[in-house]
Amino acid sequence: MLRGKTAVVTGGTRGIGFAIVRKYLENGANVVVAGSRQETVEKALAQLSEYKDRVMGIWPDLCSPEKVAAALDSVRERFGSVDIMVNNAGISSRTNLYDYTLEEFSRILDINIKAVFVCSQAAARIMKGQGGGVIINASSMVGEYGQPSGCGYPASKFAVNGLTKSLARELAKDGIRVNAVAPGVTRTDMVAALPKEMVDRISAQIPMGRPGEPEDVANAYLFLASDASSYVTGIVLRVDGAAMN
Ligand code: NAD
Repeated sequence: MLRGKTAVVTGGTRGIGFAIVRKYLENGANVVVAGSRQETVEKALAQLSEYKDRVMGIWPDLCSPEKVAAALDSVRERFGSVDIMVNNAGISSRTNLYDYTLEEFSRILDINIKAVFVCSQAAARIMKGQGGGVIINASSMVGEYGQPSGCGYPASKFAVNGLTKSLARELAKDGIRVNAVAPGVTRTDMVAALPKEMVDRISAQIPMGRPGEPEDVANAYLFLASDASSYVTGIVLRVDGAAMN
């Protein structure tokens, strides 16, 4: 579905991001794993050795326009284009409002929304020159419902939805589609580390009776990256088994 395309996946070293990287490689794309540290990027690449001709790693500061632009230039040098930008990197916390520091709030907003702006801008500049492309952002179920602690995280995901819908309208004329994926509870390392009773309790509240797997979410990222979604832009696609928080 993605043969001949080049995709950059931020936070591609583990969890949902790594599942997207694999899914895109399986579907023929060249894939760039963007992580926060060289060490974790290299560890991820080591697990993808069968695709070594179609995969590379970068680790720019995602909030630095200059560093992101330079990293995307290196991608173009290697693969010739940037067709799909996946802004997946994200961090979360559950701190209550009374203990929330401004530093923590800023840290969450930096990676969850400022980096999305920086990477979207850098990618769009390249895509416009190429005649089009696709940007996909990581939202969340809590970007619709909020959550009862850790207010910075849902606030950042509401902002992701706003950026997604606005950029979809602004960039359509340049042939660039912009969408978001909003997973529910997904079985990444974080969820796998929870006690079984807790996972059972969470699962019982999900109409489909189980948490999502990273691959469930990666399938949505595949649809939105491919021409199968050629007239889809500005949506926040829920992948949550009909969960409602
Ligand atoms: P994860 O913690 O397993 O992975 C997050 C990734 O982001 C890691 O690869 C990490 O290295 C990267 N990252 C964090 N800070 C970074 C930085 N400063 N620079 C570069 N990379 C950085 O998380 P996940 O569960 O796979 O979540 C991926 C995305 O999906 C996030 O945006 C998250 O908010 C969203 N999401 C996850 C769930 C879930 O249940 N797992 C639900 C809804 C939304």
